[in-house]
Amino acid sequence: MKILVSACLLGLPTRYDGRSVADERVLSLLKRHDLIPVCPEQLGGLPTPRPRCEIYGGCGWTGKERVLDEFGSDRTENFLRGAETTLKVARLLKVDLAILKSKSPSCGKRFVYDGSFSGRLVPGKGVTAFVLERNGVEVLDETEIPGDL
Ligand code: SF4
Repeated sequence: MKILVSACLLGLPTRYDGRSVADERVLSLLKRHDLIPVCPEQLGGLPTPRPRCEIYGGCGWTGKERVLDEFGSDRTENFLRGAETTLKVARLLKVDLAILKSKSPSCGKRFVYDGSFSGRLVPGKGVTAFVLERNGVEVLDETEIPGDL
């Protein structure tokens, strides 16, 4: 299969803090699948390292919220550009599936931080996970990878 993956899950240093933390469950997929790493926040023009961002509003992204960084600057346009560019990659390469990093304001599929920068998670999606799913791309997070994939 051709699988789009959050670049940080492969250990690429794309995280907001510039650290590199690979996920063994995703690395093991390299034996059987073509993995295509993308970082929506970098594709959206944000630097690395960068300030932490969260979706304001307490319910993740539904298409009308704002994404703010920890200093109060509005980064919504960067997040939208990153999501649209990631969707373009998914379409160009005709991926079968996307595996995205849980809890991220871009990549989170089931839970994201609530916008208060207090560490509280709420059910909801990151911007890229929302845009991919809305456009017919199947999305899993790294905790949902089936054992037989
Ligand atoms: Fe990883 Fe996604 Fe955050 Fe980039 S935007 S560092 S791929 S979780």
